[in-house]
Amino acid sequence: MRVSRRAEELKESTTLAITERAKGMRRAGADVLAFAAGEPDFDTPECIKLAAIEALRAGLTKYAPIPGDEETRHTIARKLATENGIPDITGDHVVISTGAKHSIYLAMQCLIDQPRADDSPHEVLIPVPAWLSYAPVAQLAGARVVEIPTTASSGFRMTPEQLDRALSPRSRLLVLNSPCNPCGTMYRPDDLRALASVILRAARERCPDLCILSDEIYERIVYGPDPHFSIGSIPAIAERVITINGMSKAFAMTGWRIGYLAGSGSFGLVLAEAVAKLQGQMTSNITSFLYPAIRAALRDGAADSARMCAAFALRASLIHERLGRIPGLRTVRPVGAFYAFPDVSSCFGMVSPRGKLLANADDFAAALLDEHAVAAIPGTDFGGCGSNHMRFSFACSESQIERGMDRLGEFVSSLR
Ligand code: PMP
Ligand code: GLU
Repeated sequence: MRVSRRAEELKESTTLAITERAKGMRRAGADVLAFAAGEPDFDTPECIKLAAIEALRAGLTKYAPIPGDEETRHTIARKLATENGIPDITGDHVVISTGAKHSIYLAMQCLIDQPRADDSPHEVLIPVPAWLSYAPVAQLAGARVVEIPTTASSGFRMTPEQLDRALSPRSRLLVLNSPCNPCGTMYRPDDLRALASVILRAARERCPDLCILSDEIYERIVYGPDPHFSIGSIPAIAERVITINGMSKAFAMTGWRIGYLAGSGSFGLVLAEAVAKLQGQMTSNITSFLYPAIRAALRDGAADSARMCAAFALRASLIHERLGRIPGLRTVRPVGAFYAFPDVSSCFGMVSPRGKLLANADDFAAALLDEHAVAAIPGTDFGGCGSNHMRFSFACSESQIERGMDRLGEFVSSLR
């Protein structure tokens, strides 16, 4: 017997795998310093927890409408309209799912066709390095992934010219993620306006079905000079944009598994209906007693988000400064999310004290964990130049950052 080719060929999530390995080593007594998980180290704010507890006590334990209860979808739509400037949006444009990851999965399944024998596949364009789940999820839906390479020197931002060159009549979806996991960088409002002009022209001339999946899950973790900007707020392309967001990062709610997607205008309604139909055959609805918690977070959680963001900003400065002091590593200052993404390729070809040859970022990560008990994610699966980088999540205390960077510095200087 065998599992399906689809399951066999699917790449596992390295971020989750390395996080689990580090937790296992810690349980076994090792003093592991983990910079692996993209997960805020803060606890969920009390007002959000209380809303769920009260809902549970009040008996909110039954099936709910598939896309989410009306009041919560309405609250999310109002947030997207007022905070993000998305036009022509109502509660009916919103579908709440089991984490933003699930929202992305559903959106891709509903936008991408499985290729027929006589047809070339739909293309999903992903500026890389990018979060490592986009490509496998796009491929599961039947797409061919087209990577658009970015580099540290351009702040890991794709240019309008690059986008224009990459678009073809088969282009179905462009994935944007600002602030970016793993790069810690952002698109500025004017960058997104320039990309929107390219998208609009291409949609008119050669890619009529082109949509944009804008993953804005880190929108509240922004501490650089530029504000977060939602590309879905640009009226001329709004109807093509599917905005993805969720509770995990903004409100330290990773384990709750709550995400949502929303479109705009008449296509936004068509897409939400399709997504709900698929969700109705998968998970039905998210846990019923979480809806009041979502509303509490969006109504009362801003101060908590801001407090966490301020802590991430301090940690960003600290880790950037510490990485800058390690000879041979090159890094871009993070301005959003909670990731530092140094280029470690100057260490490739060297040998660790225990004799491991560091041929690539995977070897670097393995030796750093085995020999100095520091867990971080090799950039290989993020695509493009990511293979020269390591991702350090600084969702941890300042003292852990200090100790981790001490160990990283010792490791790098011990290489021969
Ligand atoms: N998008 C990005 C860019 C992420 O880093 C994550 C991290 N988990 C997600 C989506 C998914 O978040 P979740 O499923 O926890 O809502
Ligand atoms: N997104 C987080 C990360 O990149 C959590 C793990 C995952 O879902 O990939 O580490």
